[in-house]
Amino acid sequence: MDHFNFRQAGGLELLVSATLEASGFINAFTTRQGGVSPLPAGTLNLGNFSQDDHLNINENRRRLKVALDHNERPLLTLQQIHSADVHRVTTPEDAARASLEPPIGDALVTSRRDLLLGVQTADCLPILIADRRTGATAVVHAGWRGTLAGIARRTVEEMRERLDSSPADLLAAIGPAIGPCCFEVGYEVVEQFRTVWSHTAELISQSGQVHNPGQDGRVHLDLSLANRLQLREAGLPDTSIEDCNLCTICHNHRFFSYRFENGAVNPVGRMMGVIGWRE
Ligand SMILES: [Zn+2]
Repeated sequence: MDHFNFRQAGGLELLVSATLEASGFINAFTTRQGGVSPLPAGTLNLGNFSQDDHLNINENRRRLKVALDHNERPLLTLQQIHSADVHRVTTPEDAARASLEPPIGDALVTSRRDLLLGVQTADCLPILIADRRTGATAVVHAGWRGTLAGIARRTVEEMRERLDSSPADLLAAIGPAIGPCCFEVGYEVVEQFRTVWSHTAELISQSGQVHNPGQDGRVHLDLSLANRLQLREAGLPDTSIEDCNLCTICHNHRFFSYRFENGAVNPVGRMMGVIGWRE
């Protein structure tokens, strides 16, 4: 938590990375607080369109932009599909298109300084990335499938190859997500990680004890560490990666959790990780 602060703004409670902010980037991870959605009443659902009124979500997004003091900027989001697909926005036409219809994929990168990028989560890992030299920004949605597919690493590769970013200039902030304390997965998930990752043993634990391989099928996966390792592999210094270390299940009073609130049956809201250049 060292470099993150909770802050009240415009009736919303936001978790802000002080490091990103000090480097010139508007940023926030939202909580439940401050919206108009009935999930339950008065919550800030920023993404679950299928189980909430569009008008509520639009009002919640407007409040978020006001709280960030950038109500005039387009907020670009994604149709997230648990993939490793990265969508790039560089021209005004790209931005207009993405604003009308959210592109399909699980990361957005942009060189533009007149946008806000947002990623929607309720257990999956939200990552904000910023280039201190160029002002380029990115958001990443990394659940276990996207993590397995390498979404964080591919986002950094896209920034290197297409936006002229150097990993040494990048900062990453990892927001609230289901923690290794609570993220129980089946052994079939672990087996899939083993097929592509040599360091899988580091990522799993038994009965919530991190970093010990499980034996009895009750295995906990450390999504945050998996993504930190990917960002490091992609060239980010470990000291440039921050993690708020807040679990959406342990802190369910504050954050939405698809798993804990049984999203397969009940309507569960979505939080947003958002980033933009301060100008
Ligand atoms: Zn937990």
